[in-house]
Amino acid sequence: LTEPIHENEPFLPKMPRFDYTPPPYSGPSAEQILKKRKQYLNPAIFHFFKNPLNLVDGKMQYLFDEKGRRYLDAFGGIATVCVGHCHPHVVDAIVNQTKSLQHSTILYLNPAIADFAEALAAKFPGELKVVFFTNSGTEANELALLMARLYTGCHDVISIRNGYHGNAAGTMGATAQSSYKFNVVQTGVHHVQNPDQYRGVFGSDGLKYAKDVDEAITYGTSGHVAAFIAEAIQGVGGVMELAPGYLEAVYGFIRKAGGLCIADEVQSGFARTGNHFWGFEAHGVVPDIVTMAKGIGNGIPLGAVVTTPEIAKVLAYRSYFNTFGGNPVCTAAGLAVLQVIEKENLQQNALNVGSYLQHRLSSLKDKYEIIGDVRGRGLMLGVELVTDRQLKTPAKVETLHVMEKMKEMGVLIGKGGFFGNVFRITPPLCFTKEDADFLVDVMDYTLSKM
Ligand code: PLP
Repeated sequence: LTEPIHENEPFLPKMPRFDYTPPPYSGPSAEQILKKRKQYLNPAIFHFFKNPLNLVDGKMQYLFDEKGRRYLDAFGGIATVCVGHCHPHVVDAIVNQTKSLQHSTILYLNPAIADFAEALAAKFPGELKVVFFTNSGTEANELALLMARLYTGCHDVISIRNGYHGNAAGTMGATAQSSYKFNVVQTGVHHVQNPDQYRGVFGSDGLKYAKDVDEAITYGTSGHVAAFIAEAIQGVGGVMELAPGYLEAVYGFIRKAGGLCIADEVQSGFARTGNHFWGFEAHGVVPDIVTMAKGIGNGIPLGAVVTTPEIAKVLAYRSYFNTFGGNPVCTAAGLAVLQVIEKENLQQNALNVGSYLQHRLSSLKDKYEIIGDVRGRGLMLGVELVTDRQLKTPAKVETLHVMEKMKEMGVLIGKGGFFGNVFRITPPLCFTKEDADFLVDVMDYTLSKM
């Protein structure tokens, strides 16, 4: 069984051909694993799928369950599988590094770490040339906030409502969605208006939203701030691209107040948006600190902070270190990811296939009232469902229903947004036009049955 459920019913969309058969699986069943998960793993309930899949194999943009059923992975392990599941070049890099040296600390030199730092720095403009490795996006943002606070001598940080920056003490403060915040001390963060072009009070007028940052500095701080942190396209927040003109104006206000500008590229970086390698580049700004994770290692735990030599100096004479951050196995994967993006022209593919997919999704919007908005860039796209277009009433239940039905037909997508009513489409960047067609046809079919 290498085809999705219902594949033999002629009226249903056909999944593109893919010449790969996963090896036979003889491990425990989904029911057995679910039992263990309930007993031994994180009890947090994620309202994504009624019956989580037992995924046992992955190749490029496809995943396979225990029965050999194939699924198109249009969520990319939460925008993490950048160049494709188990891409052979990345696998080779990991295996080779694992065989020669699995761990090296900051005390010693190691070529895999230095080579990747050099290649990563080359992806940045100007003075952004010093790399710190971490294990996750949360750690990268914690470090960025720490550096900004040390560099400026200020504590106040500004972040945008509905943004997501992590779940440790500092980053949870910067994260601005109640479902990801807990009742613990998170000091010194001011959350400003979201320049949300669909639901925001000023529509697409970036300068009006930027004024709110200026006012937050004036009324909420001493007039001096440590940093402003933002995603170029809010991922968890529902694939929301910042209104045009916003970031440039805000960077002006923040720098006037002595603060540093942090670009959180955990989701929007690494060629995902197609027209640029980094999301911030579309806004004509150069940040002081850039953070990244997810796609950087194609799913291997790796994050990074890139900044200028001058800002990096704040840690020069302090005992800052991260035991596993920049482990040679992870950095070998990172270098391989960069090589694949270039060799296979994946940034261009993200632009071409992403534009095509967005166009096709937009035509679904003309067909179905329930689609309130289609947005994003490259292969970072969002589809917002509403039960009333005028009132923009979030269609939360319907979102889950469509996701479940699409899963049954072999397509995996994610969801997000403050109300949980936005489909998130962030596949591996090797996604093809045929994959895009299949996804849209399946969504079309599912919506037509509601
Ligand atoms: N920043 C952004 C934009 C994210 O989307 C995430 C995770 O979803 C994080 C930071 C935190 O990354 P991690 O889950 O690797 O700690």
